[in-house]
Amino acid sequence: MKDAASTSLSGLSFPELEELLSTNGVRAHHAKELFRTIHREMVIDPAASPLSPPLAKWVSENVGAGKKYFIDLPQQADEIHSSDGLTRKYLLRLADGQVIETVLMEYKGRFTACLSSQAGCAMGCVFCATGQMGFVRHLTAGEIVSQVLHVRRVLAETHPHRRLRNIVLMGMGEPLHNYDAVMQAMGIVSDRRGSCIGASFISISTVGYVPHILRMAEEKRPYRLAVSLHGSTEAERSALVPASKKWDLETLISACRSYTSQTGNRIFFEWTLIAGKNDSVETAQRLAALLEGIPSHVNLIPLNPTEGYEGVGSASGSEFQETLRAAGIPCTFRQRRGIDVAAGCGMLKAERLKRESRQSAQK
Ligand code: SAH
Ligand code: SF4
Repeated sequence: MKDAASTSLSGLSFPELEELLSTNGVRAHHAKELFRTIHREMVIDPAASPLSPPLAKWVSENVGAGKKYFIDLPQQADEIHSSDGLTRKYLLRLADGQVIETVLMEYKGRFTACLSSQAGCAMGCVFCATGQMGFVRHLTAGEIVSQVLHVRRVLAETHPHRRLRNIVLMGMGEPLHNYDAVMQAMGIVSDRRGSCIGASFISISTVGYVPHILRMAEEKRPYRLAVSLHGSTEAERSALVPASKKWDLETLISACRSYTSQTGNRIFFEWTLIAGKNDSVETAQRLAALLEGIPSHVNLIPLNPTEGYEGVGSASGSEFQETLRAAGIPCTFRQRRGIDVAAGCGMLKAERLKRESRQSAQK
């Protein structure tokens, strides 16, 4: 469907599409029609849909297999549902064969998509299935957008009267390591003429990629920022998050301070609780001191078991939560939705890889 010289139309913003059409001799006002067809109507093959004649002609000559432009359309390689039916996880195969995860979650009648930003991840967090796989490549803007279109197509079938409300970049990969493509994709999916996801309903979660946290503030990006902390001292954190050796805790906290003062927005701090590593009351007290003066909200995440981290989920989360709350820091538990469907980041793909290697060993 795609060759090396081909460009994705799904990864172009509305103004870019306008420019493309006008440089191709098609009046710019047809961009609205094409953008709506791809992003609002979620048409898979625009050449087969009723378009106005000049646009239809350009599309039939330029868009599709072996042509100059294409629409990203990942193939669904696997789908699993949690037993409560509220979480659906998709393994999507990209044009070059890479497989990524996209999750659709329902909570109190509202729908959230959890997107991947990379195939694999270079950050190597020890408890994370994606980190354990290593880095393969960045996703393109079109591939990120195509995940949103995939879950919206599912929703249109299963819940025709409901819309996708939230996006979280908490699937595979480190979104701020792939800054340009992520920002481009979020610009496209928040466009009112297309998927129309409110910018304040989009959360970008980072391992603590300091230069790009500061860049988000400078560029006044309107999205919510979540920072994965997991440690209250440098030693505690870098044992779990190797990226802390590059951007240490002190540098990260100071970037968070600049971010909140520059934007006026609070930060959501993510904290995966791991028994004996970062779940003590003393750690919670140190965390409260660290966050003093930063408008924050702490999200506690029960550990999803992964390779080497099967039995170390923490039972003492409520004391941890109480300690933070007593210090005036809002603190909630992230729903442990769909653990029965390997819902942790990268876990479905990891399980599939394991299954495949078992099968090839048996041959
Ligand atoms: N790379 C980004 C976003 C993807 S990971 C980041 O690290 O923030 C999204 C969240 O899931 C992070 O807070 C991460 O630490 C957490 N996570 C990863 N593996 C997990 C596991 N096995 N159990 C619980 N949380 C996990
Ligand atoms: Fe990468 Fe985030 Fe996993 Fe760390 S937790 S390895 S940054 S995806």
